[in-house]
Amino acid sequence: MNNKKILLSESEIPKEWYNILPDLPEQLPPPIHPLTNKPIDPKDLQPIFPMSLIQQEVSLERWIPIPDEVLRVYKIWRPTPLVRAYELEKYLKTPARIYYKNESVSPAGSHKPNTAVAQAYYNKIEGVKRLTTETGAGQWGSALAFACNIFGLKCSIYMVKISYQQKPFRKSLMHAWGADVYPSPTNFTNAGRKVLEENPDSPGSLGIAISEAVEDAATHEDTKYSLGSVLNHVLLHQTIIGLETKKQLELIGEKPDVMIGCVGGGSNFGGLVIPFIPDKLKGKLNTKFLAVEPTACPSLTKGLYLYDFGDTVGLTPLLKMYTLGHKFIPPKIHAGGLRYHGDAPIICLLVYKKIIEAIAYPQRAVFEAAITFAQTEGFLPAPETAHAIKAAIDEALKCKETKEEKCIVFNFSGHGYFDLAAYDQFFEGKLEDFEYSEEEIKKTLEEIKKFPINQ
Ligand SMILES: *Cc1c(COP(=O)(O)O)cnc(C)c1O
Repeated sequence: MNNKKILLSESEIPKEWYNILPDLPEQLPPPIHPLTNKPIDPKDLQPIFPMSLIQQEVSLERWIPIPDEVLRVYKIWRPTPLVRAYELEKYLKTPARIYYKNESVSPAGSHKPNTAVAQAYYNKIEGVKRLTTETGAGQWGSALAFACNIFGLKCSIYMVKISYQQKPFRKSLMHAWGADVYPSPTNFTNAGRKVLEENPDSPGSLGIAISEAVEDAATHEDTKYSLGSVLNHVLLHQTIIGLETKKQLELIGEKPDVMIGCVGGGSNFGGLVIPFIPDKLKGKLNTKFLAVEPTACPSLTKGLYLYDFGDTVGLTPLLKMYTLGHKFIPPKIHAGGLRYHGDAPIICLLVYKKIIEAIAYPQRAVFEAAITFAQTEGFLPAPETAHAIKAAIDEALKCKETKEEKCIVFNFSGHGYFDLAAYDQFFEGKLEDFEYSEEEIKKTLEEIKKFPINQ
């Protein structure tokens, strides 16, 4: 039997991130200022982001060196293994070969430290003393807390109040790495105070927490804000996943026929597939790139490709993306990391150009796939990750029918050991599926269709 794990040595960790901006089939539509309807000047972002990250956001350099200090931290868990899912294949009786890239081996348990570490580093060298961010269930907050602790930065995390109360263990992890965690809405910011005046018992929302974190950064000289997905520089840092995967597949002489990832804002999926896209555009690969989302938040499969606000409150620049409308509030499904109304502009352009395909699954089928995976390959996935597993299983079952020996690669974006309450609800039959009609979605999009930039 061949090896179960395809491993790289530490010296084989890629030394550069891959920037797809110069290789996109057309120019990425720029972020737009909502008042002037003109592209924003990147320098306008300086109150909240350090200059080096603003430069990466718009850079047209194809390769961007990974600083030694970042590589040193990456070595705590990188390179991550590419694993052949022999036991899952056997269980499915599929002729397909299934591989997964295991990003759950990082200290925070997901792919998110790949960008958190880079962002903390660039802030540190520009003299920033403190980072702020928002977190829902706590995946991103724990990744940033870990990264700030390493580079000696203070970290203030606005955690959606209801999650703060109901999901205390990720908060414990953030505390272990020395971060301050506040249940949002707080009375430290104008945004938070305004919400509390109207509703002292507000459970909070990601939109409110973003407003608080941005306001905190914008009003403190030594403080910047950090975002864990969607933006170009975040996807750039995540390409370390796909660049390693490429080397690992080459080692065993494999070419991917299908590459799969779950999509919330698009960073782990983008990180896996972006390094393979130039070969597809040149006709050297015929890979199907499959983005997987929940039917409860179907931005890529049911949204429209329009300019919309990045946040719920309407404070950010407008981004061109597949969106359900910034006021769309997805139901409280258990894949909290996939409850975003839009997606990364890079991923959206590639979906629009039909280079990436998208599919949506309801949550019960996704949890079933998670359990199948746990009972064959052992690891219990995060509910987000289980969306990718469900799609990989379906692709492998298609191969069983057609007798095709395809090579399927998916990203195992994180483990589910902080999501056990959600698994209990699944076992107790308490999880609901959500599906939206075209009519319902149309309604949430009416307002943004009227933006002048969308005319
Ligand atoms: C945050 C998160 C996601 C979703 O975010 P992307 O930016 O789309 O990758 C997926 N999986 C896990 C484990 C996460 O923590």
